Amino acid sequence: MLRLQAPLPDRYTLATPEQLDEWIRAAKATLGSKLLVLGHHYQRPEVIKWADARGDSFKLARFAADNDQATDIVFCGVHFMAESADILTGAHQRVVLPDLNAGCSMADMADLDQVEECWEALADVTDVDRIVPITYMNSSAALKAFVGEHGGAVCTSSNARAILDWALARGDKVLFFPDQHLGRNTGHQMGFDESDMRVWNPRHDLGGLEERDVKDATFLLWKGHCSVHQRFSVEHVEAFRAEHPGGEVIVHPECAHEVVELADRVGSTERILEWVEAAPPGAVLGIGTEIHMVQRMATDHPDKTVVSLDPLICPCSTMFRIDGPHLAWCLEALTRGEVVNQIVVDDRTAEWARVALQRMLDLPGAPTAAAKVD
Ligand code: SF4
Repeated sequence: MLRLQAPLPDRYTLATPEQLDEWIRAAKATLGSKLLVLGHHYQRPEVIKWADARGDSFKLARFAADNDQATDIVFCGVHFMAESADILTGAHQRVVLPDLNAGCSMADMADLDQVEECWEALADVTDVDRIVPITYMNSSAALKAFVGEHGGAVCTSSNARAILDWALARGDKVLFFPDQHLGRNTGHQMGFDESDMRVWNPRHDLGGLEERDVKDATFLLWKGHCSVHQRFSVEHVEAFRAEHPGGEVIVHPECAHEVVELADRVGSTERILEWVEAAPPGAVLGIGTEIHMVQRMATDHPDKTVVSLDPLICPCSTMFRIDGPHLAWCLEALTRGEVVNQIVVDDRTAEWARVALQRMLDLPGAPTAAAKVD
């Protein structure tokens, strides 16, 4: 999805890190409690150090919603997260994304046109009233609205199983987008196997499937993935185990199923943080998630060995777009009363997206502001 970020003035691109720090500090002091800076765990150090709250996407959106004192919310994350924050915050609050090009490659793998075409194609061969559409939190507001309008719900990586149980109590099948891996891993966790699942490729007629496949499948998994988590491989796990025979492998459920099968623990971003914190001194942990978070956990826990399973650096390149210059630029603009890069979800989309989010929240054990979700 094309989002155009205007080039920054030279003042920011030519500034030293010390100057940027000074300007950010001054802007935060000027804006005071009117400002809330939110930082996703995958943000780089020069950005995350300015965050008033850290967390995963849903936790940060709820944090914004629970803080109605702040009128300007600067979301250091990616586009779908800023949209969710806008949906969940009040009319007096404005959400700013420091770089409009900070999208999510996974969220961009399913757009509304493709999903609507998919739904129409499914309606030609089966009863769509028996299909429950579920979208991962990591999707555009338009897709959250689509599932809201079609009887479905949003899920996160920590509650995907509860949401899919709910969906299959309401229908015969689930259309799950945009991450095939989270859908597949959750389906296996629920006791289904590959024969119950089909991958829907939006580039092909009827998703590249036969009518029989659509009828037989319980899970129609959108052909999307996270470019960060899909990098982790069986070879990475084997290499880690060979080097650290007593080590523990912890991965995110956006990893491929064969990697998840080999892991000792599988959990959301917040769960991974908890497990690392709870590990005893001397523990050796091989982690399958974004590198900035892994490096931060290693720094924060010098008594443990925390390493990435992938020896090659694997940052989230879109999260990485948020940097000191962009943060300083949007904060200084706010001190002048200018709002740059505001993310606004239109009323109709927000209304249906809220329905889909609310269905998730209404489930027992649903995430709260202090929840553990990706
Ligand atoms: S880590 Fe993956 S899912 Fe998360 S924002 Fe980056 S590309 Fe999207």
